[in-house]
Formats: sequence, C-alpha cells, structure tokens
Amino acid sequence: MHPIGLIKINRPLATGDACILQGDALGALLCWRPRIGEAFTVAGPANVLWRARLTSLEPNSASLLVFEEIGAKSEGPEIILLQALPEKERMELIIQKTTELGVDAICPFKSRRSISLAERDSVQRKSHRWQEAARKAARQCRRESIPVVHPCAAFGAALELASGAALKLILYEDRSARPLKAALRPAAGLSSIAVMSGPEGGFEAGEIAQAEAAGFVAVSLGTRILRAETAAIIAVGIAGYEAG
Ligand code: SAH
Repeated sequence: MHPIGLIKINRPLATGDACILQGDALGALLCWRPRIGEAFTVAGPANVLWRARLTSLEPNSASLLVFEEIGAKSEGPEIILLQALPEKERMELIIQKTTELGVDAICPFKSRRSISLAERDSVQRKSHRWQEAARKAARQCRRESIPVVHPCAAFGAALELASGAALKLILYEDRSARPLKAALRPAAGLSSIAVMSGPEGGFEAGEIAQAEAAGFVAVSLGTRILRAETAAIIAVGIAGYEAG
C-alpha cells in the first residue's frame, strides 16, 4: 500500500537546507492540505526523517526549510484496522488514537450488530470527515504519512480487504479465543497485520466463523469486556509495539 502524503526527498539533507518540491513530492505535500508556516515530516535518503517548514507554495512548486533531524523511519509491519461501525463519535476517537499508534489503514465496516452508515450519518457528524480526522491526527503526532480511511464496507468485503495480511486477528471476548500475546509472537518479522474489532454489541458466532474461514485468528484481550474503542486502540497499540 502506498502511504498517503509521504514526502520523499532523495538528496542528502541537512539542517538549514532549502528544498524545492515538485512533481510527486509536491503531490504528497498537497495531501496534507498545507499552509505556509506549517511544519511537516519528510523522508530523506536511507529513510531518515526530518522536520521541515513550508516557506512558499506555488501551483507547480513549494519550498521547505529543513530545521531538525528526527531519526529513522520505523520499519515495522503495515497495520490495518478493520473497525465495525461504533455508536456516537467513537469512530473519530478510534481514528485519532490508532493514527497516533501507527495504524496504516482503517476500514470501517457494517457488522450484524453494528449500526449502519446511514443511521450513523443521520445522527452524527458525516463519515466523510474521517479521512480529515486521520490527516489532523497524523499532522499533530508528526507522522510522515497519513493513514488511509477506506469507505465503509460490508463484513465480507472488510475480510477481503485484509486477505493479503500476513497475520489476521479478530478480537473476540469469548473464552475460546487465544491470548493476543501468543498470536503476536511471530509479529516482528511480518509484513502486515490486520486487526478486526467489533461493535458495542459484539460479533455473532457466524461472523467469527466466517472470519476464521478467511484465515483470521480469534484473539482475546483478557477476561475484562472492553468498550469497542478501548479494544481497537489497545490492540493496534500492542500489535505495533510487539512488531517493533
Ligand atoms: N459482547 C460484549 C460487547 C462487545 S465489546 C459484551 O458481552 O458486552 C466490543 C468489541 O470489543 C468486541 O466485539 C470485541 O471485538 C472487542 N473486545 C472487547 N473486549 C474484548 C476482550 N476481552 N477480548 C477480545 N476482544 C474484546
């Protein structure tokens, strides 16, 4: 998956450098809805990350002033969160917190017990704001790219979206589920991890069976029943941590 907004500069960088962005790098900058004076994280050679401030923005070019080196880009696995539509404003909270924790893509989906997108949009802020929520959170925590927020999918389509993931986990509070810790043991060397988290009403047994048939492993976060947003956020945090 090509990260949104990754500004790559392929020449050696140093504090005080002025960089002119054109072409793909300018396109990546524009994904951030940039304003003059704002700081961005750019990826220099050998994936070293730098902070740079936008000093000018023209139709075909922009200029950044490099002011700080912040270290190497983390090379952990791609993490995709498949999130059953939660009630109220919880999706914005999940997007914000999992962005801070390194999620690379979020796919909202309708499950048997979740609300539908129409129900949600009729009473809450519009779901099209979710990509903007990811952009704002990525900017605030100084990420070099913006997580992709996919359009709301049906249950089967959400499973399909994660079909290429090396490790596929579905969060299930039933005693039959394996401890997350055991399932994440091989995490460090994996290319990608998918985490599927349920709605306030939980998954139905048929959904768990369908996910397992698609290669997902049902994993437990312990004996306490966590709120939907707590489970999603902690699972992404632990997966990111375990995968290093
Ligand atoms: N069925 C639950 C409510 C669902 S909790 C109840 O009995 O009240 C919301 C979602 O968070 C679940 O669908 C599951 O994906 C996740 N979750 C909550 N607690 C969990 C736990 N201890 N282990 C694994 N997943 C959990």
